[in-house]
Amino acid sequence: MSAAIHWRRDIHRHPEVGFAEFRTASRIAGRFADLGWRVRTGTDAMSAADRLGVPDAESLDAAYERAAADGADERFLPRMRGGLTAVVATVDSGQPGPAIGLRADIDALPIVESVDSGHLPARDGFRSSYDGVMHACGHDGHIGMAVELAERLAERPLTAGSLTIFFQPAEEGGRGARAMVPVGLADRIDLFLAMHVGLGLPTGRYLSSVDGLLANSKLKAVFHGVAAHASIAPHEGRNALLGAATAMLGIHALPRIPGHETRAGVGRISGGTSSNIVPDRAEMLLETRGDLGVVNEHLESRARDVLTGAAAMHGLTVDIETIGGTTTATADPEAVSAIETAAVSAGLQVADGLPVGLASDDATTFMRHVQENGGKATYVGLGATLAGPHHTPAFDFDEAALPLGVDLLESLVRLGQTFA
Ligand SMILES: [Zn+2]
Repeated sequence: MSAAIHWRRDIHRHPEVGFAEFRTASRIAGRFADLGWRVRTGTDAMSAADRLGVPDAESLDAAYERAAADGADERFLPRMRGGLTAVVATVDSGQPGPAIGLRADIDALPIVESVDSGHLPARDGFRSSYDGVMHACGHDGHIGMAVELAERLAERPLTAGSLTIFFQPAEEGGRGARAMVPVGLADRIDLFLAMHVGLGLPTGRYLSSVDGLLANSKLKAVFHGVAAHASIAPHEGRNALLGAATAMLGIHALPRIPGHETRAGVGRISGGTSSNIVPDRAEMLLETRGDLGVVNEHLESRARDVLTGAAAMHGLTVDIETIGGTTTATADPEAVSAIETAAVSAGLQVADGLPVGLASDDATTFMRHVQENGGKATYVGLGATLAGPHHTPAFDFDEAALPLGVDLLESLVRLGQTFA
């Protein structure tokens, strides 16, 4: 079994959500340190203050303790306490050449993984062992490819330039990249790429540039009302759940913008305790997306109007918090052509296009930063035939794609092409 698949399966069995990737991140740091890479963790790899949507202290502590008891690398774990789970690993040939940067996201999703015997991870014994959390997007594969790439480079070192891998926590929700960029480790990257498996592309195919990633805003709204007996004094109550429900309808009814890709939706709503109590608190998670930053900003501002309007309508107050967000980015032709050259020697075929709908990824935050500093960037789609769609309990991808992805990355870093 290739190192990529071996690692993918171990990480798949131990999925951790954003900023709680203690086992995952510490093991990555340990492996890369053992392979002789320069490894940065904790506040050397990320800015604590720039994170969004950090889980509460209690959940973070529980995840930390679980990791400590379940194979985390003790050499690095303590530096990650409190959700500092980014890792930046660099190998430098010491010779002139390009500084290449690769983003590998490491977080899982709050999904209960399928137990169906047709689901390969369940059948072959590497289904999630953590209840309600699952690698349902392929980030476990991204980690596996990075590790195998490092192992290959240990056997046959780079002869030009350097490679830095940004292991990014909390990609889901668009929360991690914004905390890594301010540290400055991506300031002098000549060629930056993010690579994502799956996306509806079959094994053996690839896209040198996944265009049209949507800008998005993730919001949490908390409605505050007044509790009351639902029969004796309903008129004294102010129903927070009613405010949330009203807002939900309004958000889903927001008009779309002609000529643009847009999304607006509520993904979670909760509140209240019992049928005979007017609920005094309701919570909502929602998002907007757009194919341009200004389009998304317009939708977000309309959604905020709906939230405050619905609150006023029912005599409530509402607190709105931004818990994540991504921007758009455009690939550079120089980066695209470097990927295409590398793909030829890796034996990969160009895919016809993206067969699935548009998504978002905060790798765009890295891409823009690199580009603003004069570097080139692209977002690569690596074909891996799917057994179930992204972000669902039956998600799984063809692992045979992983060694191919490593071939692509290895050819790229060995090209030694400069981008100055
Ligand atoms: Zn993903």
